[in-house]
Amino acid sequence: MQAAPMRALENIIPRVMLVDCARAAVDAQRKRILAGEADAVDADAILTAACNSALAALRPSLRRVINATGVVIHTNLGRSVLADAAVQAVVEAARGYSTLEYSVANMARGSRHAHVEHLICTLTGAEAAIAVNNNAAAVMMVLAEFAAGHEAIVSRGELVEIGGSFRVPDIMAQSNARMVEVGATNKTHPSDYERALTPDTAMLLKVHPSNYRMIGFTESVSKADLRRIADSENARRRAAGLDVADVLVYEDQGSGALMHLDVFGEYAEPTVRESLQGGCDLVSFSGDKLLGGPQAGIVVGKKEYIDRLKKHPLARAMRLDKMTLAALEATLRLYLDPEAALREIPTLRMLTEDAAVVRERAEALMHAMRKRVSPRQAHLSIVEETGRAGGGSLPMCDIDTYCVRVEFKCGNAQACEEHLQREREVPVISRIKRECVLFDARTIVDDDIAEIVDAVGSYFDSLASAKEA
Ligand SMILES: *Cc1c(COP(=O)(O)O)cnc(C)c1O
Repeated sequence: MQAAPMRALENIIPRVMLVDCARAAVDAQRKRILAGEADAVDADAILTAACNSALAALRPSLRRVINATGVVIHTNLGRSVLADAAVQAVVEAARGYSTLEYSVANMARGSRHAHVEHLICTLTGAEAAIAVNNNAAAVMMVLAEFAAGHEAIVSRGELVEIGGSFRVPDIMAQSNARMVEVGATNKTHPSDYERALTPDTAMLLKVHPSNYRMIGFTESVSKADLRRIADSENARRRAAGLDVADVLVYEDQGSGALMHLDVFGEYAEPTVRESLQGGCDLVSFSGDKLLGGPQAGIVVGKKEYIDRLKKHPLARAMRLDKMTLAALEATLRLYLDPEAALREIPTLRMLTEDAAVVRERAEALMHAMRKRVSPRQAHLSIVEETGRAGGGSLPMCDIDTYCVRVEFKCGNAQACEEHLQREREVPVISRIKRECVLFDARTIVDDDIAEIVDAVGSYFDSLASAKEA
C-alpha cells in the first residue's frame, strides 16, 4: 500500500484522526467485500477514501457560506450578518480582557447590563432595558417573573409558532403561567379580554404575528385598548383594596425594528418605540432579525419591572457573553446615526437597497460567469423575482430583486446545486426554479462574485472530466 499521501497528511492532521479515518475506510471495504459488492482488496481506493475523509474532518463544522437565496434574514444561514464595526468589537472583546463586569470609573465591580442599556433606552425611549440570549429566553423570563402561578390573557389569533421550536402556548406552559385564551382565531374584541379578567390576572399578553398576516374578516385589539383595559382593572383593584399586583401589558414584538423602514409602506413592522408609546409596560424582541445584530433577546420597559428581571435567576442562566455584548453595543451605536445604520448594517442595507442597484450586481455576476461558462454549457440571463425578508419579519412585503438564471445545456440544476453545496470549500446556497438555478443578487456582495463563478465553472468542469474518464 502506497502510504505516502497519508504520511504527508500527518503534518496537518492529528494522528488519532488519521488512524480513525484509515480504520473506517478498511471497515467499509471489508463490508463491501462481505456484501459481495467488491471482490478484491483495493488498497488505492482505501487510501483515497481515508485521505478524503481525513481532509473532510479538517474542515470546521460551522463554516462560511454564500447566501444566494435572496432571503435576507435566513435563520438556517445565521440570520443577520454583522456590521464591520460589530465584527471589530467582537474581535477586540475576544482577544483580551475587557470591562465586561468592571467599572473603571468606580474602580470596582461593574454591571454587564450597563454596556447596552443606555443605548437601547436612547433608541427606543424606554426607561430601562435588559438583554439576554435570545427573544425566546426573554419571553420565558418575562412570563416566569410576572405571570408564573397566575393568569395571562392572550388572543387565540396570537398563539403563534415562530420557527419549529418557539410556540407561545408551550413557552407559557414552561414558565408556569396559566394561559387564558380569548376570542376566535380571526377576531378578538376588547370585551373578550374584559370578560376574562379575574383578581388572578397578572398580564395581558400581545404576540406580534411576525411570520404571517391574517387578512379578510379579522380584528385584533390594539395596544391602546389593552392599556385602557389594564388601567381600569388596576384602578378597580385599588378602589376595592385588593392586595394584588397590577395587570401588566406585555408585547412580544419579535422583529426588533428600531427604525421605520419607509420602503415597506403600510406593511412595515411597527418599531419598538411605537410599541412602548402604544402603552406596553414591557416589550421584547430579537437582536438578530430586523435589528441586524447578534443573536440576543431584549426586554424594554418600566424600570421597576426591568429591575425585577435583572434579579431573576433566569437572567443569570440566559445572560449574554462578552462577544455578543460587544457586537450588540457596536450595532446599536450605528443606529445613533440612522443613515449610518442603513448603510452599514447589512440586514438593513440588503432589505432597503434599490432594485436597480441589485440589478447591477446581478449583471456583474452574469458577465463574470459568461467568461467561465460557455453558451454550450448553459444559457445565462437576468430575471426579476420577488423576495421575502425571512426570519419572521415583513411577511407581506414583496421585495423586488434580480437573479442570475442558469439554464442547463448539459448537466442539470439538481446536480449543480449538489456540487455547489457539497464539493466547495465555501458552499453556495442557491435555489432551483423550473429546472434552472437562480442566484439572487440581493443577498450577495461584490466579493462573492468570483467564488460563485468559480463554483459554477467547476461544476461544468466536473461534467467534462467525467465524460473523458
Ligand atoms: C422570532 C420571534 C421569537 C423568537 O425569537 P428568537 O430571538 O429567535 O428566540 C419570539 N416571538 C416572536 C414574535 C418572534 O418574531
